[in-house]
Amino acid sequence: MNAAGSFGSVPVSPWPEGSVCLVGAGPGAADLLTLRAWHRLLQAEVVVHDRLLAPEVLALLPPDTERLDVGKAAGHHSVPQPQIQALLIEHARRGRRVLRLKGGDPYLFGRGGEEVQALLEAGIGVEVVSGVTAASGCGAAAGIPLTHRDLARHCVLLPGHFADDTAPDWAALAQPQQTRVFYMGVRRLAHIAAELQRHGLAPDTPAALVFDGTRESQSVVATGLAALAAQAPAYDERPGLLIVGETVRLSPHYREAEAVAPAAPPGGEHYGPADRARLQRLLAGRRDMRHFRRGQNIEPQTLDRLLQAANQAPSVGMMQPWRYLRVRDAALRERIADIVAAERDATAAALGERAADFLRLKVEGIRECAELLVAALPPDDGTVFGRRTMPREMVVCSLACSIQNLWLAARVENLGLGWVSMFEPARLAELLAMPAGAEPLAILCLGPVEAFYAAPMLEQEGWRTRRPWQDAVYEDVWGASPNSRASSV
Ligand code: SAH
Repeated sequence: MNAAGSFGSVPVSPWPEGSVCLVGAGPGAADLLTLRAWHRLLQAEVVVHDRLLAPEVLALLPPDTERLDVGKAAGHHSVPQPQIQALLIEHARRGRRVLRLKGGDPYLFGRGGEEVQALLEAGIGVEVVSGVTAASGCGAAAGIPLTHRDLARHCVLLPGHFADDTAPDWAALAQPQQTRVFYMGVRRLAHIAAELQRHGLAPDTPAALVFDGTRESQSVVATGLAALAAQAPAYDERPGLLIVGETVRLSPHYREAEAVAPAAPPGGEHYGPADRARLQRLLAGRRDMRHFRRGQNIEPQTLDRLLQAANQAPSVGMMQPWRYLRVRDAALRERIADIVAAERDATAAALGERAADFLRLKVEGIRECAELLVAALPPDDGTVFGRRTMPREMVVCSLACSIQNLWLAARVENLGLGWVSMFEPARLAELLAMPAGAEPLAILCLGPVEAFYAAPMLEQEGWRTRRPWQDAVYEDVWGASPNSRASSV
C-alpha cells in the first residue's frame, strides 16, 4: 500500500474520519482478507473485535492501533450488543476511524446488520467490507463444492442455534439436491441430525464438521449424518461449521473416512457397532419406491455394481436362475406400461369394494424411472436333478434373493427400486420374445428419487400395516408364539 491509498494499481476508496467500517475478517487465514479489508486494518485508529477472531488477522494490525476486545473471555460474558453499539458510536463521535472487525462476513450471522442500523440511526457513516464467510471458506478448504451442479441445486446457510419458535423448516431442509450449512451448530448436532432424518433425510447422507476452517489447525470430520451425530459428544466446544449434503461426498476427508472400512478378510468380515447400526438402518429403511425423478440416468458403472450385487445373491444349488432384461427401447417401455395398466384395472375390478383405494396406489415408475429391468426365470432353471425335480418355488426364492440384493445395492447408491408384480406374465413374456418355459417374475423400476418414503407406501396410504416379526415366528410347532424373548426387542 502507498500513502495515496492503493495497492499497486488497485485504488482503495478513502475512509472519512469519524465513521465506522465493519470489516469481514474471513474464516481465519489472514491471506483470505480482501485487499480493502487489509487497507482498512492499516488505516484504523481503533479496532473493536470479538475474542474468537483469528490471531493471524489481528497480527496484521500496526502495533500502535488501539484494540478493544468485546468478545467472550473464558467464563465471562461478552459485552452486550447495545454496549458494543454504544462503544462504536462513542469512538466515531470522537472523530476516529473505528474498525469493527468480525469473523467471516459481517452480514452473515454476525449481527452486523444490527450494528449498522444503530450507527445509521446515530447519524454515523458506515462502510461494510464483505469477507469470506465460513461456508465458502470451509467449503473450499475441506473440498466441498457447495453447489456442484450434479449434486446440489442450491445451498442453504442457516444458524444451528435457534429458539423453538424459530426452528427451521425441517421438511424443506430434508429435500434432496441441496447443501445445508449450519453456523453455530456443533452443540445442536444431535438435534439437527435427528430432525433432518425424521423428515426423511437418509441417515447416511454425507455430512461434515469443519473446525478452524482455513487455519493451520483446521480439522474435518466427514461421514454419514447419523454416524457423525452418534459421535457428537466427542466434539469439543470449539466453534465449527456443519455441512450436510451430497456435495460432502466429494471431500477428500469423506472419501478417506469411508475408505477406512477394512477390506474383507478371506473368511468374511466382522462388523463393529457402527457398521451394524448402519446395516440395520439400511435393512429397515428399504422401501418399494413408486415415484421417480423424470429424465434421469444411472451411470454405467453404478448399474454394473447393481447387477453385480444381484448376481452375488444366494441361489439354491448355485443355479443362479435369474435373468435381467434391461429395457432401453422407449416404445417397448410404453407397451410394458400398458400391460401393467391393464393388470391394474383388472385387479381393481376384482377387488370390488377397495377398488378405488387400490387405484390410488398408483405405480408411476414404469414411465418415469431411469432404468427398467424385467427379472425373469430362464426355462433351464436347474430344477431338474437327475430324475428328481425340485419344486419351482425353490428357484423363485433364488430370484427373489437376487432382486433383494439389487434392491439393497440400489439403496446404497441412493437409488430407489420399485417392484411391480404381475398376475398374468404371459403377455410380457411374449412382448420380450422369451422362449417357452421362461417366465417374467417382476418388473423393476430403478432410478433416482426425490425422497425415500418415511414408511412403506402401502402403510402410508393406509392400505396395510406391517405385522410385528413375532407374528411370523413360531416355537417348535406351527402357531406356538415365541416366549418372553419377543418382548425384549
Ligand atoms: N459472520 C461469520 C459467522 C459468525 S457465526 C461468517 O460469515 O462466517 C459463528 C459461526 O461461524 C461459528 O459457530 C461457526 O459455525 C462458523 N465459523 C466461523 N469461522 C469458522 C471457521 N474458521 N471454521 C469453522 N466454522 C467457522
